[in-house]
Amino acid sequence: MTAKILDGASVAAAIKEEVAREVAEHAMRGLRPGLAAVLVGDDPGSQIYVSGKVKTCEQLGLYSEKIDLPSSTTTAELLSLVRQLNARDEIDGILIQLPLPKQIDTAVVLNAVDPAKDVDGFHPVNVGRLTLNESGLRPCTPAGIIEMLERYDIELSGARAVVIGRSRIVGLPMALLLLHKHATVTVCHSRTRDLPAVSREADILIAAIGKTAVVDSQYIKPGAAVVDVGMNRITTREDVTRYFGDDPKRHAAFEKRGNTVIGDVDPRAAMELAGYFTPVPGGVGPLTIAMLMRNTLNAMKMRRA
Ligand code: NAP
Repeated sequence: MTAKILDGASVAAAIKEEVAREVAEHAMRGLRPGLAAVLVGDDPGSQIYVSGKVKTCEQLGLYSEKIDLPSSTTTAELLSLVRQLNARDEIDGILIQLPLPKQIDTAVVLNAVDPAKDVDGFHPVNVGRLTLNESGLRPCTPAGIIEMLERYDIELSGARAVVIGRSRIVGLPMALLLLHKHATVTVCHSRTRDLPAVSREADILIAAIGKTAVVDSQYIKPGAAVVDVGMNRITTREDVTRYFGDDPKRHAAFEKRGNTVIGDVDPRAAMELAGYFTPVPGGVGPLTIAMLMRNTLNAMKMRRA
């Protein structure tokens, strides 16, 4: 079997197009969704992520503000900024780029964001709404994965789903969203016994671990839909060959940059065994930004449309 590719990039493009169309309709009534993206410190990865989000806002017609703070910022200073943003009517979404520097109490800051503007869906109020399946803002990555699975007509109701990972950002909300779609869900983590055997029961297998190609042929039931959330880097030529064979694109990327990106799933095993598979990059990543745009638009509609 050769897995069908779940093309997250084109699903993301479709979602962005829908958001842009709706934003244009609201603009005719003088309403424009606004996102404030707060970046503390100068981590290059976070800089790239935040710039990408701000640029996408511009492309789709949303208002955006990028707020850069020095790495010495204190919890009190960041809280003061969050309160100002909570009070500004034209700001519908507040995004605090993680991770924050060590001296900042991340939970205190995230919990200070107005739940109505919590476009990442991390606030306990929104986590509670998700848990109870009440309407609210959902975390972007798992919400995007559900959109993608549904747009590919992959049946969730009654399906056996296994989520590897239980983080606040991905694993836990993913499991809840699948449960609310009537899947039978098992959540696995670093202490799960015989993870390959549990994973092999999955019709839908979500890997959100953060470790290179942990999920290999022993984990995949033939024909399963395998979603790879992981973003890891491999930095040796041997590993490039091990995971990608003689794929010229991967070798060219490695020769150019000295590394290439890989997920939590062994891509060759997934392509051979799975029914559906998300590539890394180009699978889950683009969906996250698209859903952030959708959440910002929805936050505006819920609060002031
Ligand atoms: P995280 O907070 O580090 O959580 C990782 C989870 O995996 C934990 O629940 C951990 O278990 C579990 N785990 C770790 N090693 C394991 C093992 N060997 N076997 C089974 N479970 C194991 O990471 P995260 O924020 O959820 O992110 C996961 C991955 O997704 C990362 O690579 C991240 O970069 C990527 N990501 C991608 C996107 C995107 O848009 N593409 C968005 C978010 C995250 P314990 O709870 O027991 O420690």
